[in-house]
Amino acid sequence: MNTHHNPRVALVTGAARGIGRAIALRLAADGLDVAVNDLPAQSDFLYTAVAEIQRIGRKAVAVTADVSKEKEVEAMVDTAVSALGRLDVMVANAGVGAGRVVSVMDADIGEWEKRWEINIRGTLLCYKHSARQMVKQGTGGRIIGASSLCGLRGFAGVGGYCISKAAVRSLTQTTALELREYGITVNSYAPGVIETDMTTKEADKEHGPGFTVKNLLKIPEVRTAKPADVAVVVSFLASPDSHFVTGQTISVDDGVHFS
Ligand code: NAD
Repeated sequence: MNTHHNPRVALVTGAARGIGRAIALRLAADGLDVAVNDLPAQSDFLYTAVAEIQRIGRKAVAVTADVSKEKEVEAMVDTAVSALGRLDVMVANAGVGAGRVVSVMDADIGEWEKRWEINIRGTLLCYKHSARQMVKQGTGGRIIGASSLCGLRGFAGVGGYCISKAAVRSLTQTTALELREYGITVNSYAPGVIETDMTTKEADKEHGPGFTVKNLLKIPEVRTAKPADVAVVVSFLASPDSHFVTGQTISVDDGVHFS
């Protein structure tokens, strides 16, 4: 499927750590060259990811950008394409977590909007500019976004985050319909609780030790999983074999939610 001379190319945002990093490494193992993005402050971790991808035998490039800024996203796609030759797979993974637990009645709208800038606007900009590049190439593509269990149903206290991830699901459906004629599929993954900084270190900082996301979501009996357990699903969505799957948000959550 993937010849040595014409490798497919992926761009993964928020790839300095966590789920994004696992996706980047998995796609490299699948035989893709990979551009890894994160915020400039995460450059060192990006360079580590680049070195690991190169060790797998694939080309890699680090492209810093804030995905909530349109000019930066445009430049990110251009840089990835100049460095690796083309773009076949966009994984708009970058996102920010739930933050402070607060009810709708007590919501600080400004704080919620800051999250939406990254989770909603950032995802939209990544979809937009990767789609334009893929349409220009004329050889189809795969666009993949990060929704969440929290985008598929509400959870008390985390409304700002739930809204943003529901928006990713909705955007995925619209974009899928618009890009069908170009052979570009658009899907998102909806993880349950995955062991990353977002759900461990940062959650502890926000809520104190002993806090668990599972308890917050009132799903204490559910298993947690590793970033690689999400990456394997993204691997399928990124593959040519998944051409008949589009507009879907695929749960990777130990069976908490059935769509
Ligand atoms: P993480 O916080 O460990 O990693 C996210 C990465 O995105 C970080 O490296 C961060 O620097 C980067 N990032 C943040 N804002 C950015 C911006 N504006 N521009 C570019 N990069 C930016 O998170 P994770 O747990 O690996 O989650 C990855 C994605 O999966 C997120 O969209 C998250 O909402 C989603 N998700 C995670 C879980 C979970 O349980 N961990 C569950 C459901 C959905």
